[in-house]
Amino acid sequence: MSASSLAELKPMLIGDQWVAREDDALESINPATGAVNYRVSVADAALVDRAVATARAAAASKAWRDMLPHARAQVLGRISDGIRAHSDELARLQMIENGKVWSECRAQVASAAATYRYYAAVCETLGAEVTPSRGDYLSMTAYEPYGVVAAITPWNSPMTMEAQKIAPALAAGNAVVLKPSEITPAVGLAVARIALEAGLPPGILNVLPGTGAGTGKALIHHPDVRMISFTGGTITGRNIAAVAAQRLIPVALELGGKSPHIIFGDANLQAAVDGVVDGIFEGSGQSCVAGSRLFVQRNVLEQVVEMLVARANSIRVDLPDAEGAQMGPVAGFRHRERIESLVASARQEKGEILAGGRRPDGDRFAQGSFYLPTVIAGLSNQATAVREEIFGPVVCVLPFDDEDDLVAQANDTVFGLASGVWTANYQRAWRVARALEAGVVWINTYKQLSIATPFGGFKESGIGREKGVTGVRLYQQSKGIYWSMNPANLPE
Ligand code: NAD
Repeated sequence: MSASSLAELKPMLIGDQWVAREDDALESINPATGAVNYRVSVADAALVDRAVATARAAAASKAWRDMLPHARAQVLGRISDGIRAHSDELARLQMIENGKVWSECRAQVASAAATYRYYAAVCETLGAEVTPSRGDYLSMTAYEPYGVVAAITPWNSPMTMEAQKIAPALAAGNAVVLKPSEITPAVGLAVARIALEAGLPPGILNVLPGTGAGTGKALIHHPDVRMISFTGGTITGRNIAAVAAQRLIPVALELGGKSPHIIFGDANLQAAVDGVVDGIFEGSGQSCVAGSRLFVQRNVLEQVVEMLVARANSIRVDLPDAEGAQMGPVAGFRHRERIESLVASARQEKGEILAGGRRPDGDRFAQGSFYLPTVIAGLSNQATAVREEIFGPVVCVLPFDDEDDLVAQANDTVFGLASGVWTANYQRAWRVARALEAGVVWINTYKQLSIATPFGGFKESGIGREKGVTGVRLYQQSKGIYWSMNPANLPE
């Protein structure tokens, strides 16, 4: 028997049952060391069916359906408290699965706790409408849950991505079946345990680890799943949307990006370069909003590139739990190979690698999937590395001459998730912000995110908006109710 098959086998959660399954078990690998963390039970089609039936019954139960908003809000508040109380455990689970540095994992746990707290408040204060009557009747708009929501999530930030779906879906009155990424299944399982301890009725949150092709596919095709909320790559999102279209169920999609980060010549260059560095190298660039295309006005290009290269070379790449580590490994070995092949394409297309472009030296990094912060210049806006989402610590620098040239280049992409503009000219900031085809524009800052502000992509970066008060409406359908006021319609 191999060492990995002796590793702990984590069960999945269906209702209040922790179900262990040896067949097809996933191996969770620590990307910093290559070691097996544990194995994780995988849901086959029969277990998907059992979980959806459990969720459906729980969603329809009086315990959940008739729970008053303030009571539901209390449950969400207790989940938030439970997440905070288990901060170290949750941060560690994310760190050993996706390799993000400890400080970032801790910050994401705090953000997830805040998300549950926020949707507790939304749940408690959410209203419905009495619409102006156009006759002898009272007309109302009520909002009702879909029933069973399938939440499917990626590996880069399971802590926050899963909270962003589960908290509003529960506030809206649904039951959720979560299919976390096969690379990061443990965070979702731990939060579900915390939710049960917080008094969430069993069956309202079920967690089914597994692959996309197996568990994910079975889940989205299940006839009792009435809504799909997906975050992940654009190709996967397109496939899931096609299934949702066939099934005529709603789908929310948070997809990939290739976000333009823009520096005009009049900007505070020091602050701008700091923003660029955080915007691309935080989380080893594995962020959907990573500012991976850097557009710099030609008159400051040389200066910005020099500052950027110096900063990239000074980033402390280290084991994610090492004191002062700023960048850990990328999330896996296959993922690193993909990053390497895109950097190789940049070399072939006459790009100049100004920093990084390789794995770090030294025994400390030998077993992990590390890759250095990388700066590439000299590519055209049509180059493969400029057009494709790399999802790694790689920024491509491109010059521009004026505002029109900039807007045309920045918008010349299939993606439209995020963008950033650095300039001292507030009129220009406004014009460019309005002209960029992106769901988020940061002005003289980057990657600042708030749970209170709706978030989502233009173009192939997604459909629908998560977060904010309106984020709860993603998980509800409205119902018009007409109530006659005509006494003649009542019995004598
Ligand atoms: P992915 O698309 O490969 O996988 C995402 C999830 O979908 C995983 O849980 C996977 O198992 C599942 N899946 C795959 N195929 C499926 C299928 N046919 N049916 C059902 N489920 C299926 O993405 P990833 O590699 O895990 O994550 C990286 C991607 O996520 C990047 O493109 C990134 O930009 C994107 N992302 C977007 C946002 C956003 O908010 N817009 C946030 C984070 C990540």
